[in-house]
Amino acid sequence: MDSNSVLNIFREITTIPRESGHEEKMTAYLQKFASDHNLQCKTDSIGNVLITKEAAPGKEDVPTLVLQSHQDMVCEKTASSAHNFDRDPIRYEIRDGWMVALETTLGADDGIGIAASLAILESDLPTGRLECLFTISEETGMDGAMAIEEGFFTGKTLINLDSEDEGQMFIGCAGGVGVLAEFDYERTNPAMGQACLRLRLHNTLGGHSGDDINKGRINTVQQMARFLYPRMDSFHLMLLAGGGKHNAIARETEAIVLVAKDNAQSFINEFNQFAQTVAAEYHTTDPDLKWEASETVCSEKPVADEAKIRLISALVAVEHGVLAMSQDIPDLVETSTNLASVRMNRPGVIEVCTSQRSSVDSAKEFIADKVEACFRLAGARTVRTDPYPGWAPNVNSHILSVCVDSYRRLFGKDPEVKAIHAGLECGLFLEKFHDLDMISFGPTLRGVHAPGEKLDLESNEKFTKHLIDVVTSFR
Ligand SMILES: [Zn+2]
Repeated sequence: MDSNSVLNIFREITTIPRESGHEEKMTAYLQKFASDHNLQCKTDSIGNVLITKEAAPGKEDVPTLVLQSHQDMVCEKTASSAHNFDRDPIRYEIRDGWMVALETTLGADDGIGIAASLAILESDLPTGRLECLFTISEETGMDGAMAIEEGFFTGKTLINLDSEDEGQMFIGCAGGVGVLAEFDYERTNPAMGQACLRLRLHNTLGGHSGDDINKGRINTVQQMARFLYPRMDSFHLMLLAGGGKHNAIARETEAIVLVAKDNAQSFINEFNQFAQTVAAEYHTTDPDLKWEASETVCSEKPVADEAKIRLISALVAVEHGVLAMSQDIPDLVETSTNLASVRMNRPGVIEVCTSQRSSVDSAKEFIADKVEACFRLAGARTVRTDPYPGWAPNVNSHILSVCVDSYRRLFGKDPEVKAIHAGLECGLFLEKFHDLDMISFGPTLRGVHAPGEKLDLESNEKFTKHLIDVVTSFR
């Protein structure tokens, strides 16, 4: 077996439709692969597949190793592409040492992980007992990993084959939770002689609330609240809306306020000045902030002042950004929180959405408590949403030392040992399989989740060599 065996299987996989939520054909392919190779195979009710291969002679005493990848792929194509992901094989070419998808995603995330597992299953490599796990719907919420049942696999050591940088070994990821706050409010009659102003902050970089939280980017929701807070007595609030997904940094926020007619122009001037100050503060990390302040027309009544004060105070007080860095892994964010959005879509209720992450579950609980406490002090109702566990890095892990020794032996240098401040399926496995020893690695991919996704073929050779060495030397 070599990297060509992996590539050949991957080529076959590129012909199989497998958008998240529609993995039936991929599942059937795996089941057929198992029966063609006389391997035990089981599928759970949600569609996770486990193919088992018994130990080679003389390897019966080696502990079972789990190789894990996900069946689904992100299906994105260029605007002009006529590609049909339900039917058409992925078209790609080999260019400058890369396998590049032409108009779509390639699906090397995580088709290459599947291919590597299958290549090992069909090889005659002298390995211990192997369990190859293929989960579903990783890309849309890790449904497969979340629903997996206790005992579905029995190995206590798991290699996740869903990482994107050859030469990097991942040994941890963040868990997450959300705090949703609801402020009740009434609308009241405004004083006479008011002007209605629309204020906007937008065009910032935003980004992912895990990967980008330490990059010093502007949170437009919090900055808008920062402008309004010291001026609480000089405006009525009509509308405050900003941010989007819970896992994105808020890139755009709008406020509509009523101010005394005489005061309108100076309020606009102050906003422009404020925005310039913010732009100056972030001139390196988020340099393209845009803002507008203009008169508009409003017909509704303003939010009662007591609710306005509670809301804006909370949006200024609540934490946003990095709370702690890892004590074991250099430059890894350990704990963070994202003030994601504020919405007034439902009558009488203002919703504020936040999300917290940490590789240390107890630290995740504490930051969620802090955020929740802040909103409760401000008289809001709160609920916790979608908790999922983290995977705390263990620098003394056995599989880590096996993988590092092997890499050193093969390539004469150390791999980088890292963790990420985002979710991986590994975190979810820990919920049901408490004493799992895990690691994640893979070949180099670029542009994943976007048309033109590509696989570095040389990195695939190194990855394959390394994986073969690890599965044969593991004990
Ligand atoms: Zn993936």
